[in-house]
Amino acid sequence: MSAKIISGTEIAKEIRVEIKQEIAELKEKHGLTPGLATVLVGDDPASRVYVGQKDKSCNNLGIYSKMINLPEDIAEEDLLKLIDELNNDSSIHGILVQLPLPEHINETRVLYAIDPNKDVDGFHPVNVGKMVIGEKCFLPCTPHGVLELLSRSGVKTEGAEVVIVGRSNIVGKPVLNLMLQKRPAGNATVTLCHTRTKDISFHTKRADILIVATGHPKTVTGDMVSEGVVVIDVGVNRIGKTSEGKAILVGDVEFDSVKEKAAAITPVPGGVGPMTIVMLMKNTVEAARNKLVRK
Ligand code: NAP
Repeated sequence: MSAKIISGTEIAKEIRVEIKQEIAELKEKHGLTPGLATVLVGDDPASRVYVGQKDKSCNNLGIYSKMINLPEDIAEEDLLKLIDELNNDSSIHGILVQLPLPEHINETRVLYAIDPNKDVDGFHPVNVGKMVIGEKCFLPCTPHGVLELLSRSGVKTEGAEVVIVGRSNIVGKPVLNLMLQKRPAGNATVTLCHTRTKDISFHTKRADILIVATGHPKTVTGDMVSEGVVVIDVGVNRIGKTSEGKAILVGDVEFDSVKEKAAAITPVPGGVGPMTIVMLMKNTVEAARNKLVRK
């Protein structure tokens, strides 16, 4: 068997068309342009690339993008002051602070300072809590993107054995919570594995749907999965550079061996990555729309 490739690039394109329509409607009917502020502290090359991609995506869709680049040694109080200003800026509907932050800054304190109504990353505890109890809220972009990839490629989660490898707050845990919800894109039986799990293969072999987010290439290999599994590879690992100096990216799954057994699989790049950005755009438009309701 050779797997169907689930293209995040194509699905993200489809969603962008829908978002563009929503933005046009907001502008036409309400004179409202959604606005996103991205805050980058320091000069980490990967973070710079991510922020740049978000800015480009805003510009392509007609979202106002305010990119703020702060020096590595900025004081935590100054960063909190800036967040407060953005919370009160009526042209900004979404605020994203690019993680990780330098060590001298308390990440939790910064994320808690963002107005939950502008928390388009879905990391504020108010939004996390609402997500867990199944209330309407901003869903974190990567987990939401994983759900959209599955549902838009016709993969049913209801009653499925879903196995997640990786328990981070930004990927594994929210994916677990979303898959558990009593609604069409959920209703799965979910197992969450991590570094203390006794026998990962035992679980990965049972999976109908396998979602991997560990940050290590080849965490899952062909001998660890069963025929017909659907695999979502969240991982992004830089393993070198091409002769033109471009980063060589691989996921957390050994693509070549796993694709021989899987029914469907996401590639890296071109799988979850484009979905994360488009879900951020979707949340920003939703934040602008919510503001109309709150007026
Ligand atoms: P993280 O915070 O480092 O968490 C990794 C998790 O994986 C931890 O829970 C860890 O277990 C577990 N783990 C690591 N090695 C393992 C192994 N060999 N077997 C079982 N579990 C293992 O990472 P993250 O932020 O969730 O990111 C994970 C990956 O997704 C990274 O490659 C990252 O670049 C990528 N990512 C991609 C996107 C995107 O848009 N495409 C977005 C976010 C993240 P313990 O808890 O026991 O340590």
